[in-house]
Amino acid sequence: MKEKYEVVWENCLAIIKDNIPTKAYNTWFKPIKPIKIQDDILTIQVPSQFFYEWLEERYIGILKRTIKREMGVNGKLEYSIIMDSSNKNNIATIITPAQQPEHIFNNPVNVGNRMREKIHNPFVIPGIEKVKIDSNLNKSYTFENFIEGDCNRLARSAGWAVAENPGGTSFNPLMVYGKVGLGKTHLAHAIGLELKRRFPDKIVVYVSSEKFTHQFVDAVRNNSINDFSHFYQMIDVLIIDDVQFLTGKERTQDVFFHIFNHLHQNKKQIILTADKAPVEMQGIEQRLLSRFKWGLSADIQAPDLDTRIKILHRKMYSDGIELPPEVVEYLAYSISVNIRELEGALISLLAQASLNNKQITLDLAKSMIDKFVKNTAREVSIDYIQKVVCDYFDLPIELLKSKTRKREVVQARQIAMFFSKKLTKSSLAKIGQHCGGKDHATVLHACRTVNNLSETDKGFRKYLQDLEKKFVI
Ligand code: ADP
Ligand code: MG
Repeated sequence: MKEKYEVVWENCLAIIKDNIPTKAYNTWFKPIKPIKIQDDILTIQVPSQFFYEWLEERYIGILKRTIKREMGVNGKLEYSIIMDSSNKNNIATIITPAQQPEHIFNNPVNVGNRMREKIHNPFVIPGIEKVKIDSNLNKSYTFENFIEGDCNRLARSAGWAVAENPGGTSFNPLMVYGKVGLGKTHLAHAIGLELKRRFPDKIVVYVSSEKFTHQFVDAVRNNSINDFSHFYQMIDVLIIDDVQFLTGKERTQDVFFHIFNHLHQNKKQIILTADKAPVEMQGIEQRLLSRFKWGLSADIQAPDLDTRIKILHRKMYSDGIELPPEVVEYLAYSISVNIRELEGALISLLAQASLNNKQITLDLAKSMIDKFVKNTAREVSIDYIQKVVCDYFDLPIELLKSKTRKREVVQARQIAMFFSKKLTKSSLAKIGQHCGGKDHATVLHACRTVNNLSETDKGFRKYLQDLEKKFVI
């Protein structure tokens, strides 16, 4: 027997399906799950904030009409959004009244601040029982979904070791550090999830350092600092994300210091992430920093091209998306410094294609990336320059990176060096390394040669102009 909410939602879908392009329907409506009906409110679950905003922006009209038709004038729609970095218990809910066509939200609180997040404050649960503690782990951030590459191998395997033997390795604390968008939070969750899988009875808590700070401030206000400390001292595995946000917060650092000591003495596992290595952190007390260095600090670097392509494939696989290989390559070539941006580009591309009912082609990807990346200080990568130059001269990229001194290859290599110098912030030495292991003097010489030739040789100048067009938007 189907539940009422399922039937109602199915009826809505039947109407919606007839009224919008199939592709859009598959992209934006199929993944929605109906959850319940209560007091004339139908709750549907959407996979992300982005999804919700997209629905509100594009489909609110049709949603309202169908809800009204199926549920009567009092029918309302509530979204349950699976929040990033949280599990199902940490959802945001937003109510959209179907009877107010002009105003999307009837709750004035929601107008400015759309999200009404249900924040769990674990230590206020009366008579804490182990089972009730919310680990706050995001189920999709698994090890399986975390692609391994040179950029993260150490951090990943240390994380795995910790998950196998929490508190029992010398990696305590395990500190994972690296720039934004490179997978620290993902890895931190993966460790927590794997730990929970192996040791279901262990109390694992993931908390961002901001939330930790807020909880502490609340505890001070409510006179419940003891409860706060007590809560954190009784857990088995503490994962604190982005500890750099404790900078300058002396009282929070102080209470964290004591919690840290207590856990460490009792052989409980501590996992931390930060945007820089402990030695470079400022505004964190020395005694805390020195403890951060007790275990292992492992960094995560920007992924290489191969790893970026694998990450995109993984993401496409889990979202059930198919893209032509040249589009995947193009995305991976163009966005090199931040995996979150890479994923964002993929989502925008899907949105573009479904909105305009277009095929996802290389041209669409190019025009989208141009818009998408322009504002975020786009930097063309050396990899990308080499690829474009090689495509242009129809040379295999391996030759360009080799030591061969064949004339055509030398010329292409010099041009790649010239554009790398011009368009990236890379040092001469780094450019040289990427182009067949040359030294910085060779790169400098290449740049001069290209400049000279462009002044004297018309044909050569044409090459440069053609290529330049491909790089500059
Ligand atoms: P950080 O915490 O370092 O800023 P996140 O962990 O939030 O970065 O990662 C940003 C996005 O990139 C997430 O969606 C994450 O799933 C994805 N990601 C990062 N590293 C990998 C990886 N090695 N494999 C697959 N996805 C990754
Ligand atoms: Mg993070």
